Amino acid sequence: MTITPVRDDCIFCRIVAGTARSHPVWEDPDTLAFMDLAPLATGHVLVIPKPHWENVFETPAPALGAVMDTVKRVAHAIRTTIAPPGLGVYQVNGRAAGQTVFHYHVHLIPRHGGVSLDLHGRRRADRDELDRVASLIRSGLDAPGG
Ligand code: 5GP
Ligand code: ZN
Repeated sequence: MTITPVRDDCIFCRIVAGTARSHPVWEDPDTLAFMDLAPLATGHVLVIPKPHWENVFETPAPALGAVMDTVKRVAHAIRTTIAPPGLGVYQVNGRAAGQTVFHYHVHLIPRHGGVSLDLHGRRRADRDELDRVASLIRSGLDAPGG
């Protein structure tokens, strides 16, 4: 296991350090997957990088990749074991997006038909506007990595 800085004020750092209780699903040198304490559905799992980074902007790309490897591994395990009709993979950044724990994490949430999560717009956008926004975002693309 790699040595990682622990922030005493961060519940996920304390889970990594073993000073707070958790229900682990997977651990490797870079990531940890454990059950969400307030699950939105049976099998709701969180995947985190062990070091403390607040959000997608701060987390280096290789660490995001390591998290995604674990997301895929655990997603397959959820499908094999719980077999929900759908599986949501969600991640939010910033209070305005609904983030409440400020240590980067990805949610894996088994999804069942007919339950709205409100992540989808209700109105189809204007295609010219979509072109404009896509071009705007492309103009801000940096070199890959981070
Ligand atoms: P966010 O809203 O930041 O995307 O998600 C934070 C998640 O962390 C929530 O789903 C919440 O239930 C979960 N959570 C908060 N505190 C704890 C804890 O102490 N242990 C575990 N396992 N999950 C927690
Ligand atoms: Zn932390």
